[in-house]
Amino acid sequence: MDKPHFLSMNRDEYRELFKLWGLPKFRADQISQWIYKDAVHDPEQMTNLSKELRQKIFSEIDWRLPSIVDQVTGQDGSTKLLLRSLKGQLVETVLLRYENRTSLCVSSQVGCKLACDFCQTGKLGFVRHLDRAEIISQLFMANEILRKEGLRVTHVVFMGMGEPLDNYNNAVGAANVMMAEDGFFLSARHVTLSTSGLAPEIEKLATDSRAALALSLHASRDDLRTKLMPINRRYNLERLKQALLHYQKVTDKKITIEYIMIKDTNCGPQEAKELVKFIHGLKAKVNLIPFNAHPGLPFQRPDDEEIRSFQKYLADRSIPAPVRYSKGLEVSAACGQLAAKHAEELHSKPERKRLVSQMDASFAPVEVSL
Ligand code: SF4
Repeated sequence: MDKPHFLSMNRDEYRELFKLWGLPKFRADQISQWIYKDAVHDPEQMTNLSKELRQKIFSEIDWRLPSIVDQVTGQDGSTKLLLRSLKGQLVETVLLRYENRTSLCVSSQVGCKLACDFCQTGKLGFVRHLDRAEIISQLFMANEILRKEGLRVTHVVFMGMGEPLDNYNNAVGAANVMMAEDGFFLSARHVTLSTSGLAPEIEKLATDSRAALALSLHASRDDLRTKLMPINRRYNLERLKQALLHYQKVTDKKITIEYIMIKDTNCGPQEAKELVKFIHGLKAKVNLIPFNAHPGLPFQRPDDEEIRSFQKYLADRSIPAPVRYSKGLEVSAACGQLAAKHAEELHSKPERKRLVSQMDASFAPVEVSL
C-alpha cells in the first residue's frame, strides 16, 4: 500500500493516524505544527520528537516533494515554477511578488477538460486531477523559496492549470487546509477558487468552504460564451446566474468576475451592455484583463481606447472594474504556457476538438495517454 504523503493529512487526520498507531494526540499535533507552521518536512529536524518516533514517521510517511524542472523569474518579480509531480507529470505554479503581498497561482489539474478557446492549458487536453497533497505542495514549495527572502505566500488563487471545481474534493480540501488555523492559516479573503462556471459545484461551495469565489465569465451572451468557453453549453448563462444568486444568498459574499478582453471579440459596446445585464442583482466586482497575446493562439489584446470605453461603461453604472495587467508576462504566466513549451512531454495530439465534442455529453475524464 502507498504511504500517505505528509501533506495529505491535516491535524485531525494526523490525530486519526496516530490513534491507529496507539500514540497520543499531542504527538500528532507536534508533527502538524512542524509541517504547517514551521514548514519543516524532514523528520530529523523535528527535535521535540523521540528518535523512535522520528524513525517511525520517516518510514511510514512519504516526505518527498515534486522536483523543480524549470524556474524562471522575470524583472517584475514573478517566478514561474515548472514542477514534476511525484507521479511524473508536469505542473505549473506561479509566484507573484507585489509590494505588500505575495500571491501564488496554483494548478489543480494536469491539463484541463474544458477546452476554453483562448487558453494554452485547454489546448493540452486533460491528463489527470492533482490530489490534495499535490496542490498543497505548490504552496509549501513556494514558501520554501520565499523563506530565503524573509517572505511567505499571503494570497493563493486557483487560476493555474485546470478547473478547480472539476476536481472538487481535492481543490476545495486544499483551499480549506490553506485557510485552517492548524493549517497555513491564510485569510479566507485571500484564498480564491476560480471557476469557469460549474453551476452545481458553485452552489455546493457555498456551504463547503469559506474561500472567495471568482468566476471566469469572458462573455455575457450565450453564443459568444459557448464559442469561447464550451462549458457554457452545459451550464448556460441563465443557469450560471441562478447558481451565483444561490451562492450569494447563502454566503453574502461578493464575487469577482474575471473578464479577459479580446480584441474584436468580447469588448465592444454591445458586450459591455450584456455584461451589465448579467451582473444586475449580483454583488460583484469585475477584473478586466487585456488578453496576453502569445504564439499558438489567434487572439489579440484590444487597444487602450477600447479598454477605456468598456471600463467607463461599467464605471458609469457603478460597477467597479479595475484593469489588471498580467504580471508575469516575461515568464509566460498565462496558465499552461510554460507547460505548453514542454507539451511533447504531455502528449502530441491536439485534444480540443475531442474535448469540445464531449462537453455536452459527459464530464467523465478524457484521459490522454502519456
Ligand atoms: S481557462 Fe481554465 S477552465 Fe478554461 S481550459 Fe484553461 S484551465 Fe481549463
